[in-house]
Amino acid sequence: MPEDCAASGSGFATWIMQGVRPSGASVAAPPAKRRAVLTTAELVRGVRTCELGVLGRAITLVESNAPAHRAQAQAMLAELMPHTGRARRIGLTGIPGAGKSTFIEAFGLRLVEEGLRVAVLAIDPSSTVNGGSILGDKVRMEKLGRHARAFIRPSPSGGSLGGVARKTREAILVCEAAGFDVVLVETVGVGQNEVAVRAMVDAFVVLMIAGAGDEMQGIKKGVIEIADLLVINKADGDNIARCTGVLAEMRRVLHYLRPATEGWVSTVQTASAVTGAGVPELWETLGKFFATGEVTGSTARRRREQAVAWMHALIEENLRTNFYGSESVGARRGKIEQAVAEGRLPPLAGAVELMGG
Ligand code: GDP
Repeated sequence: MPEDCAASGSGFATWIMQGVRPSGASVAAPPAKRRAVLTTAELVRGVRTCELGVLGRAITLVESNAPAHRAQAQAMLAELMPHTGRARRIGLTGIPGAGKSTFIEAFGLRLVEEGLRVAVLAIDPSSTVNGGSILGDKVRMEKLGRHARAFIRPSPSGGSLGGVARKTREAILVCEAAGFDVVLVETVGVGQNEVAVRAMVDAFVVLMIAGAGDEMQGIKKGVIEIADLLVINKADGDNIARCTGVLAEMRRVLHYLRPATEGWVSTVQTASAVTGAGVPELWETLGKFFATGEVTGSTARRRREQAVAWMHALIEENLRTNFYGSESVGARRGKIEQAVAEGRLPPLAGAVELMGG
């Protein structure tokens, strides 16, 4: 396993080379000399030697919904599987503007300086191939992206939550097989996607800011309940006192909550992505989290449960795709939907009819 992932340039440069902008939107492919199709063996070899260009293409492959690509992706994943599972899988969420990209840049740089290799998978549920994106076109985590031991990958664009979750899970495995020590999954805290990310990582970090309101930050929607570590970001300058107030308040809140992870008392701390204060402390706390997880077996247990839940999610996805993709359903769906919409057919009868046909 190479020490760096530098074979074909930096992670950021690789985005550009692959014709993918940080927002995840496609741009015209550059006239690079690259073969359109790599064999499964070439993909596996390139991932295992952490050739960034190949790594990017392997992730593009797992993101594809085309049946031929799915088949090749599964064949590739089957070969990569024995080499997966060794990374620390960390999820990080926060509302837009909480400072996620600034924080991940500071945090990621700290880890790469320690000699660790860090992959960042950024999920932006709002992004579509042609449409807008919360993450936007701004250049995110530029320094980290240029580091030889880092790889940053924007989200698969658009699609259903289930689809995005599947792609991200598979991308985690690809990154692990490439030898990354830490895989950070970033998600924009705007809805249920936090729960989907919680279900694919070992540790879950929620980045908060003072004064954004409970509702906004999902406090009332249960986001705090699934966090192992809470970070109150932007604790710098005039904002320190406010952050300290929120810290005390969150400590009280956590006191009444059931721990998100068995055997671990969820923590809260302040930090500043700009000054770097609190960043080493977060890594230290994560170290304790993982050490505790090893002693209690909670990380291994969670991964086993996640694997089984994932299998069921795949079965459901498959059933759904086959059902709605069938010609017979396609032919009758419109009529039955219309009858249900107009109240001529109860929804249950509609479902029975569509499924029975
Ligand atoms: P994201 O939308 O959650 O990824 O947030 P960004 O990382 O893009 O940050 C949003 C804004 O907050 C930017 O203007 C950052 O410069 C600023 N910001 C991020 N972290 C901090 C911090 O720790 N302190 C201060 N003062 N500003 C910050």
